Amino acid sequence: MATALCPGSFDPVTNGHLDIIERTARHFDNVIVAVIRNPQKSESLFTLEERQEMLREVTAHLPNVRIDFFKGLLVDYAKEHDAQAIVKGLRALSDFDYELQMAQMNERLSGIDTFFISTSPQYSFLSSSLVREVARFGGDVTNMVPPAVSKRLNERFGDRSGKGEDQP
Ligand code: ADP
Repeated sequence: MATALCPGSFDPVTNGHLDIIERTARHFDNVIVAVIRNPQKSESLFTLEERQEMLREVTAHLPNVRIDFFKGLLVDYAKEHDAQAIVKGLRALSDFDYELQMAQMNERLSGIDTFFISTSPQYSFLSSSLVREVARFGGDVTNMVPPAVSKRLNERFGDRSGKGEDQP
């Protein structure tokens, strides 16, 4: 049984992430979506629990996918869970340098291989950080995230009437 890990901060999960998870689930027996507990970002919009809940909702149709979290080194998590592969989505050249370095480091640390899936062109511009930014200021992100996520963003930022939370 081959198990793959899809790691990320998923703050929040977007249609781009979901596309990569669905495609990974077609190639591996089991997929663990591993949410980084402490993203190295100044602040996260959603808590770890919220990020996991949203992922559970939007992957409910995928029986071989489960959601978990990790802290510390991903390769240690991979060993503990007997995962043979890490799968990452590649959006653009800008992702490549860092992802290549990380893949080589993880291989050196543990022998685990990283597989890259190229993003579907309609999602290549999508990132969680941009979605957060657009939603914060009232932009429409309904075509960029699953409905369950759009609902949460609405609850967090109001009804997209053009007012961000910091505005009067
Ligand atoms: P982000 O960079 O959007 O904050 P994460 O840190 O959660 O996302 O990234 C998790 C993984 O998902 C990474 O491998 C990243 O390259 C991939 N990913 C993120 N957005 C997309 C997308 N739109 N298409 C394909 N892969 C993506």
